[in-house]
Amino acid sequence: MATILLVEDEPTLLATIAYNLRREGHRVLTASDGLAALAMAGEGPDIVVLDVMLPKLDGFEVCRQLRRTSAVPILMLTAKADEVDRVVGLELGADDYVTKPFSMRELLARVKALLRRRDLLLSELSERTTEAPTPHLVAGDLEIDLSGHRVLRGGMEIALTPKEFDLLAFLVRHRGQVFSAERLLERVWGYANPVDARTVPVHIRSLREKLEEQPSQPRRIETVRGVGYRFVG
Ligand code: CA
Repeated sequence: MATILLVEDEPTLLATIAYNLRREGHRVLTASDGLAALAMAGEGPDIVVLDVMLPKLDGFEVCRQLRRTSAVPILMLTAKADEVDRVVGLELGADDYVTKPFSMRELLARVKALLRRRDLLLSELSERTTEAPTPHLVAGDLEIDLSGHRVLRGGMEIALTPKEFDLLAFLVRHRGQVFSAERLLERVWGYANPVDARTVPVHIRSLREKLEEQPSQPRRIETVRGVGYRFVG
């Protein structure tokens, strides 16, 4: 049972999705344009299902603005390949996407995965706060402030997207252990099945660009050939 903000300008689709989410027991808030979506986001939904093509303000812009103040999971509804590319680049900070036309079953599964991921994160967070009073991870000159969602390198803050942050925090917390891309998708993104094979490598690459002296010869986030990735140091 969660509160879901559903943003879609096509009335029939909006009604169909809302009906199905409510049938799953969720509380559904709806908006049919970008400005209304931002206003409704103030209600503090647990997850946002966000169409890309919207009147007044498109879904990309809504996503970007939401991310300035909130880490709420965002599932984008995309209609075209070029939209998918922008979402997969994840510069926006969206957590997942589905491509139109999608089956209701698929959409509900993705919503469920995001909610599960959120619950897992919340329980991990509470576990960590009971285990460790200081929500900080330190690895060499890297300092990860888990509660403030900030990463410092040599005292300087590095700007990471929410997913880059989650991935780095996960790898550092399990430093030395090797994880396959599939396992990282499951643990960091919360998917049992890979959504897009590019998701993990794209994030690893951008983390290296931000954290490594020489991104082509990474010394913090290593690739273990044929197996996966691990954080060393
Ligand atoms: Ca639309």
